[in-house]
Amino acid sequence: MEYITGDVFSDLTSSSLMDAIPDGIIIVSNTGKILAVNKALNILFGYEGSDLIEKNISELIGDIEFFTQYIDSIVGGDQTNESLIGRQYELLVETKEQKAVFVQLGINHFQRGKELNIIGIFKDISYQKRQQDIIDAERKELDTVLNTVLDGVITIDKYGVVKSFNPAAEKIFLYKAEEIIGLNIKTLMPSPYHEAHDGYLSNYHKTGKRNIIGVGREVSAKRKNGECFPIELGVNEMEVNGKTEYVGTIRDITERVSSQRIINNYINQLKRSNQELDDFAYIASHDLKEPIRGLANNASFLFEDFEDKLGDDGKRRINRIQQLCTRLEKLIDDLLYFSRLGRQSYSLAKTDIAKIITNLTDDLKEFLEQEGGKVIVNGELPKVRCDSIKIREVFSNLIINAVKYNDKEEKIVEIGCDLTAPSRGIDGITIYVKDNGIGIEEKFYNDIFRIFKRLNSEDDTKRGNGVGLTFVKKIIEKHNGKIWVESSVGLGTIFYFNIKDIEL
Ligand code: ADP
Repeated sequence: MEYITGDVFSDLTSSSLMDAIPDGIIIVSNTGKILAVNKALNILFGYEGSDLIEKNISELIGDIEFFTQYIDSIVGGDQTNESLIGRQYELLVETKEQKAVFVQLGINHFQRGKELNIIGIFKDISYQKRQQDIIDAERKELDTVLNTVLDGVITIDKYGVVKSFNPAAEKIFLYKAEEIIGLNIKTLMPSPYHEAHDGYLSNYHKTGKRNIIGVGREVSAKRKNGECFPIELGVNEMEVNGKTEYVGTIRDITERVSSQRIINNYINQLKRSNQELDDFAYIASHDLKEPIRGLANNASFLFEDFEDKLGDDGKRRINRIQQLCTRLEKLIDDLLYFSRLGRQSYSLAKTDIAKIITNLTDDLKEFLEQEGGKVIVNGELPKVRCDSIKIREVFSNLIINAVKYNDKEEKIVEIGCDLTAPSRGIDGITIYVKDNGIGIEEKFYNDIFRIFKRLNSEDDTKRGNGVGLTFVKKIIEKHNGKIWVESSVGLGTIFYFNIKDIEL
């Protein structure tokens, strides 16, 4: 029998009933002498049998000031409601093995004959305490985060009433937390969002249709001084004590927006002056064509009409004039074409790059066979949103160059998609055209894209106008992409270009 009782208590209650109660029960005299304990109390404190009987309660729980105060208040005649409800204390006690345990102790008293006895019920609340400590620590951590983050963090309830407002939000909106907590969030919104917000919230509750929750947005906000400014707003839904709340993170992007505006202005100016340059090149080259044609025609007339008077030297010189006219015409045609590339609008459509290459190598079959060129496609080529005719021109230029500027017997041109480019911060799809040709010195990497710039003019059979790569660059840039080169002299060259506007 675990419920230990002196003789006087044998009539109090049944020992098995007391032992069936999971909380620790103790009965002490008004001087604190332990008269009885149940099984759960022994287990809680690590005692056995009648170990505790006759001992003073202070040996069990240490400081018993609260206990003596309790006795005093009862003896002093305070027998009101309190005697019915008893009192609750939270104590940190030690077990027999000196293990610290948090307990909740409820005490009450009852009269037994002439004696006043005290009954105490102990509950082990260590687990709850630990949980509470964890919650408190997390709350503290959260508060520290909220107090230090640079973004404003605001929580509102489902009606839009502000529940919390962190220091960063105070700085952004110029309101103190206590001024705004309890007001509706629309206080921080300018018209027309201010008026629309209630409707938006109730519509969301009715239909679940999200406008901003879970998605970042750039919206307008209003400071205390009435100033409207742009913010980046993220809103998320959360459950707090079974109720829906929303947490909004706010970043003041006034500076970013104004610098973006300046950059956009510059870009627009630059676009305009580029357009003007393209227009100028177009008009100038168009207008130049006629006098050159006239010059060439007159040279022909001169040759035909005065052939017998010209002599060999005269004929050679007229021949030279005609050659130069042809060359000038070709240069002007290239210039005209270049400016047209900049002026034209491109027709973008999903294009299978693999098909372009098959088609192109077919068209270049004779050239490739003659020159000992071989085109190899590495892996799968993507489908890209682009102007297919222009992109075909890009590949045509790059493939022809890869064979033209190549001293190897077998001139290998490899084409593929660089899948590692995104990890290097390169947007969109990156394609490469690689050859095993003569290579390009690093100091010429930029020059080769300049109009009429040629590096290898000594071999006249390969003579081009130095415009191919300029066209290629213009076309890629019109697709919002970039072209760049990596090369090793004697070993070969890789041209890379990326196209951003893709459709998978
Ligand atoms: P073109 O071929 O008509 O001279 P491009 O604009 O196509 O004009 O090329 C400019 C110059 O860049 C070429 O003259 C050549 O010197 C160099 N170049 C272009 N592609 C390659 C390549 N794959 N390997 C080595 N050099 C090249």
